[in-house]
Amino acid sequence: MSEKVKRNILLNPGPSTTTDTVKYAQIVPDICPREKEFAGIMAPMRDDLVRIVHGDTKEFTSVLFCGSGTICIDVTLNSLLEEGKQALVIKNGSYSSRACDVLEYYGLPYTAIESPTDQLFDPSVLEETLNKLDNVGYVYMTHHETGSGLLNPIREVGAIAHKHGAFFITDTTSSYAMIPIDVNSDNIDFCMASAQKGIMGMTGLSYVIGRRSIIEKSKDFPKHSYYCNLYRQYAYFEETGEMNFTPPVQTIYAAKQALIEYFAEGEEEKWKRHQRIMAAIRKGIDDLGFKEALPRDIQSGLVAAVRYPDDPAWDFEKIHDHCYERGFTIYPGKMQGKGTFRLCALGAIDAADIEEFWKVFKEALDDAGVKTPAVYKE
Ligand SMILES: *Cc1c(COP(=O)(O)O)cnc(C)c1O
Repeated sequence: MSEKVKRNILLNPGPSTTTDTVKYAQIVPDICPREKEFAGIMAPMRDDLVRIVHGDTKEFTSVLFCGSGTICIDVTLNSLLEEGKQALVIKNGSYSSRACDVLEYYGLPYTAIESPTDQLFDPSVLEETLNKLDNVGYVYMTHHETGSGLLNPIREVGAIAHKHGAFFITDTTSSYAMIPIDVNSDNIDFCMASAQKGIMGMTGLSYVIGRRSIIEKSKDFPKHSYYCNLYRQYAYFEETGEMNFTPPVQTIYAAKQALIEYFAEGEEEKWKRHQRIMAAIRKGIDDLGFKEALPRDIQSGLVAAVRYPDDPAWDFEKIHDHCYERGFTIYPGKMQGKGTFRLCALGAIDAADIEEFWKVFKEALDDAGVKTPAVYKE
C-alpha cells in the first residue's frame, strides 16, 4: 500500500498537507473501538499529547474528543466554570470572539476585554481588570489568532491569572506542535488542539490538555452539556481507557502515525521548518510588493494575512481558482473590515513548495491583469 496520492499544497490554516504515510495509516482492518487493542492505541497517545507541551503526565492529562477544534473551546469553557464564578476572555480576534459566542450560547457569565485585532495585547489591562473583579474562575486567551496571525503573550497573561487565583485556559489549536510550548513556563492550566493542524494528522480528533487536579475538581462544577463535558469524558477514559462515545477510529490511526513522525522530526527542527516556510512566504510577498495586515514582529510566523491590493483587476476567487487547479490552496482572510487572504506555514511542506507556489501565483496575477508590484493607496 504505497501508491502515491496526488500531493496538494494547502496554504489554508488547517487541515494541512499530510504525508502519504499518515494518509495510508488510516487503511486498517475493520476494528470495533471497544476492543482492548484500540484502547491500547489511545493510552500512549494521551501521554504523547501531554509530552508535546512538556507536561508531567502525573500532573497533566489529555482528553480526546471526536470533533473539530471548536469542540475544545466549547468543552473547556462550559465545563470549567465553578458555581458563582465568571469567565474572563481576552477578545482580540475571530477565535476569541468564538469563545465569547460559546459562553453566550450557554448563558454563562463572563467579561470580555476587547483589544484591537492587529495590535499586541497589553497584559497590564488584564491586571487592572482582575483588580476590579474578585470572582473570575478562569482567564481565557487564544494563543495564536489564526484569522490575523497575531501571537498573544500567553506566558504573561497566565502569570497574571495565577496571581489573582484564576486558572488559565489558552486555545493553542493553531500553535500546538508548531511553536514550542511548555505548560510549566508558559503558565498554562489548559490548552487544546486538533489533529489536522500541528501534528499533521486528519480531521475529526481534538484534544484538551490540562491539569488533572482542576479536572477532578470540576466534577462538582455546574454541568451545561452532556456530550461536551470535560470531567465526564476524562472519568470515562480513566476508568476504561476509551472515549465515552464512538471515537473517530481511522483518524486515530492516522494520529498515531503523525505522532511518530512528529517525534522523529523533533520539536526544534519542526519549528525551524515552519519558520523556513514562512521566510519563503514573506520573500514572495515582498518580491511582488504585497502588504500584510499586521507588522511582522507581532505575528506568530505561521500565518500571513495579506492585504488585497487596491487594483480593480484583483479578484480573489479568480486567483484562488487558478492556484487551486494547479494544486495550491490559498484562503480568504478573517479580519473584519479588511480585505485579506491568508498564506499559512502549516503542514508537511517546505520552502521549495512555497517557491513553486509563488511561480503559480505570479502566473495567476498576470492572467488576471493584476499589476506587480502590487498597488496600494495607503
Ligand atoms: C482551527 C482553529 C480552531 C478550530 O476550528 P475548527 O473549524 O473547529 O477546526 C480553534 N481555534 C483556533 C485558534 C484555530 O486556529
